[in-house]
Amino acid sequence: MKTTLSPASPDTRMQQPIVELLQKQRAFFSTGQTLSLDFRKAQLRKLQQAISQHEQEIFDALYADFRKPELESFVTEVGFIEQEIRLVLNKIGNWVKPKRVKETLVNFPAKSYIYSEPYGIALIIGPWNYPFQLVFNPLIGAIAAGNCAIIKPSELTVNTSAVISKIIRKTFDEAYIAAVEGGPETTQQLLAQRFDTIFFTGSTHVGRIVMKAAAEHLTPVTLELGGKSPAIVAADADLDLTARRIVWGKFLNAGQTCVAPDYLLVQEEVKEELIQLLGHYITQFYGQEPATSPDFARIINGRHFQRLKSMLGNSSIRVGGATNAAENYVAPTVLDRVSWEHPVMQEEIFGPLLPVLTFREIEDAIRMVNSHEKPLALYFFSSNKEQQEQVLQHTSFGGGCINDTLSHLANPNLPFGGVGGSGIGSYHGQSSFDVFSNQKSILKRGTWLDLPLRYPPYKGRLPMLRKVFKWL
Ligand code: NAD
Repeated sequence: MKTTLSPASPDTRMQQPIVELLQKQRAFFSTGQTLSLDFRKAQLRKLQQAISQHEQEIFDALYADFRKPELESFVTEVGFIEQEIRLVLNKIGNWVKPKRVKETLVNFPAKSYIYSEPYGIALIIGPWNYPFQLVFNPLIGAIAAGNCAIIKPSELTVNTSAVISKIIRKTFDEAYIAAVEGGPETTQQLLAQRFDTIFFTGSTHVGRIVMKAAAEHLTPVTLELGGKSPAIVAADADLDLTARRIVWGKFLNAGQTCVAPDYLLVQEEVKEELIQLLGHYITQFYGQEPATSPDFARIINGRHFQRLKSMLGNSSIRVGGATNAAENYVAPTVLDRVSWEHPVMQEEIFGPLLPVLTFREIEDAIRMVNSHEKPLALYFFSSNKEQQEQVLQHTSFGGGCINDTLSHLANPNLPFGGVGGSGIGSYHGQSSFDVFSNQKSILKRGTWLDLPLRYPPYKGRLPMLRKVFKWL
């Protein structure tokens, strides 16, 4: 059966029940068209072209949603995705090939291979904080691996979600790739269906809902979640550079970044100096009045604005602290004298508030991190290589940097994901191809030799087999 692809009309799409959409995708997947390397490459090129044609529209939508500066929209959303597509187009030819693995004598004569096959129909659910990148990045992996997919962008970034749906609609037949817009109710309707893999990016709370729903159908899940990611600063760090890199990583996207340093753990003796330097760089980056800076984004909505405002509590504000409800504006803020019981330490901050806590010895910092959920990221600033290894080997987290923040994301050769409370599975680069593929293990057995040792009757074989096992 050959299903031809043609752009669908938006109106029929909106009314189309999810069940029917899935049936269409199953029918298309079963034609086998997505298995061809040429097909996958052609789809990625179509996507590449569509994104480049709609670049300004994407920037405008992100600005309308939360005043995301154009440069940030390019670096962290559109440019990021364009780079990923280029990388995949370059490498996919190798990724799709069956991989020969080493043989064992026990199967002689034989050859062993790993075949990567698409799961089938993928469901991709995105959050609002990088609303474009976080649905298209997994989608690239899903296409590369030969899947059909339904994406569900966040309902909180209405403008960006509308552009995403438009790009998908104009580029792909819905029997292959479709976008379904809506909030939790729509997501639950989608989750009630049987998918072949689910890729979710969002909060730990909703991650649990997704995993429960997936369990009904035993669908494999990838969960890209959040959590409280620490930045640990040792006294021997280059404090000026440390402050600069922390301010950048924390206040990009107004702190609404899953891997943003959530809080600082600073060695006691350098706390004062570091806070001064943080203040210095906040002013250098965003001016005396960050509210007027074109380079500082807004909080996504009133609910999150209120949540952040109430987190301020009665802490000691050392830098910033200004808020403006009319604009959902929260200034880049540094909080001092924060205890682990403070409201700001009870949940992921996901905004421009940076609490500073202290530690005496590095072992204390390690203990503090390990007594909480495993974070998505950890950043350690120190010039001591031994201490760097000590922190890396005694803490568990998704990924991170030594002497920087966020930059590990920019290397597609590093799998990106969390561990424990911060997620399950990883992606980016080849990991995206792998996460959307089932790895089939295949042994091709020779027919010219067939030792009788394994076949019944077994009588008298055990001593001989013991010898063979030792020898292998
Ligand atoms: P969220 O969990 O509220 O929403 C994510 C998606 O789930 C949205 O599409 C939403 O429509 C849907 N959803 C919300 N409530 C639902 C419900 N009750 N049932 C079913 N679906 C539901 O997350 P968010 O607020 O959009 O994003 C912020 C969170 O995402 C933060 O915790 C952040 O750390 C995390 N995050 C993680 C990564 C990562 O790569 N690990 C990246 C970005 C954001």
